Amino acid sequence: MEILYKSTRSDSTPVTASQAILKGLADDGGLYVPMEIPKLDVSLREISKMTYQEAAYEVMKLYLNDFTEEELKSCINKAYDDKFDTEAIAPLTEAGNAYYLELYHGATIAFKDMALSILPHLLTTSAKKNGVKNEIVILTATSGDTGKAALSGFADVDGTRIIVFYPKNGVSPIQEKQMVTQKGANTHVVGIHGNFDDAQTGVKKLFGDEVLSKEMDEKGFQFSSANSINIGRLVPQIVYYVYSYAVLLGQGKIGDGEEINVVVPTGNFGNILAAYYAKNMGVPIHKLICASNDNKVLFDFFKSGTYDRNREFILTSSPSMDILISSNLERLIYRIAGNAPEKNAALMKSLSEKGVYEITEEMREELKDFVGGYAGEEECFAMIKKLYEEFSYVIDTHTAVAAAAYAKYREETKDTTKTVIASTASPYKFTRSVMKAIDEKYDSMGDFELVDELSRISNTDVPKAIEEIRTAPVLHNTVCEKDEMKSVVKKFLNMNE
Ligand SMILES: *Cc1c(COP(=O)(O)O)cnc(C)c1O
Repeated sequence: MEILYKSTRSDSTPVTASQAILKGLADDGGLYVPMEIPKLDVSLREISKMTYQEAAYEVMKLYLNDFTEEELKSCINKAYDDKFDTEAIAPLTEAGNAYYLELYHGATIAFKDMALSILPHLLTTSAKKNGVKNEIVILTATSGDTGKAALSGFADVDGTRIIVFYPKNGVSPIQEKQMVTQKGANTHVVGIHGNFDDAQTGVKKLFGDEVLSKEMDEKGFQFSSANSINIGRLVPQIVYYVYSYAVLLGQGKIGDGEEINVVVPTGNFGNILAAYYAKNMGVPIHKLICASNDNKVLFDFFKSGTYDRNREFILTSSPSMDILISSNLERLIYRIAGNAPEKNAALMKSLSEKGVYEITEEMREELKDFVGGYAGEEECFAMIKKLYEEFSYVIDTHTAVAAAAYAKYREETKDTTKTVIASTASPYKFTRSVMKAIDEKYDSMGDFELVDELSRISNTDVPKAIEEIRTAPVLHNTVCEKDEMKSVVKKFLNMNE
């Protein structure tokens, strides 16, 4: 069966997986969705005997079926190698009444690595397959985390360059240090005098600049994006839900066909959508619990059927979930609208014009698999402290949103189905908030002092990603004004003459 991809917004011509990866977004502004969600063609029992890489192949081959076996396996093996600090790649740890699926063992110690370590390889393979000769230039604006994960994924990948713009005074000192120490001759990092929106707007302008695009083509370059709506980021995320179920099965923690719950700390809705795809592929999942922080647009949506972004934006200690427009939700909306692009397009138009849309009763019926959960700051801090004190297990602030929301769900419903919680960042990435949650006294310590203290109290090694930036030399020192972004890009690509 060949899976082709269609836009969520119009009845356009379907494209192959590699074309969808290359394009990122469809021409009509919609997201690419597979025309059908494929079923697993090996049993979960068989997958339980496989390595992570083998399981990844079994899942991804069903979506990326214009890749040859050799191409796909090569992408997988280049991505999930010793950049990860554990052979399991995504290990499960039991604590309290849940299994934590640790998605933070990659190069930048957050879950974005799961997709961004393979996307560069999927992208360059897609370029080759479609006769693209140009070098691919990834252009990204970042508020901190995505930039580093993308830099690390694309560093030294042949046929690519990556240019990351960040707000010079708008990221944490550790985040800045992580980016400006990035190795790789094809990487470029630029601080701009402006905020994240300025960086984002500037990048969008460069993407839309037709004169620049033509000049670049003449010099053998073309832009692409590593945005989280790319199908090449979604598909690799389905793997770990299939894999974690199989691991629990293999360990005898669950029986054949037994259902589990999955809890995901959600921002852009990419990670939980992957879990939903896994369920539709045949993984026995009972409830998908979508956990929000104080920016609880999704919690309200699951409760009321109305998506309303017209509200105050709240800065929380789980910044990667501080989002009011969850772009990947569009893929779910399209599906519950009966795969009807015109219905979805009308809702998305309402979202962009009025900031709000309401789904029908019929569509709400289709959301039965999902439960909206929510946890505020104090509840998250209390959960971090509780897990540490009772189980000596330390989780980060994002994972804490999921853990706290799950505790409330379990209390309210008395549902004791075995549960997997997606753990999306290492506690070492958000050391100050985590340590402060454990004990207020830590607030007076310096950043690296806290790192050592966390290592001591949790009895875990300091991850390489943190160890490196203590001593790594600064390799990028370009700083520019908002209106100089274009000339900076041209300079990096030697296009100024
Ligand atoms: C990106 C991110 C999330 C949110 O994931 P989505 O796929 O955007 O819902 C949660 N936690 C961390 C640590 C992240 O980096």
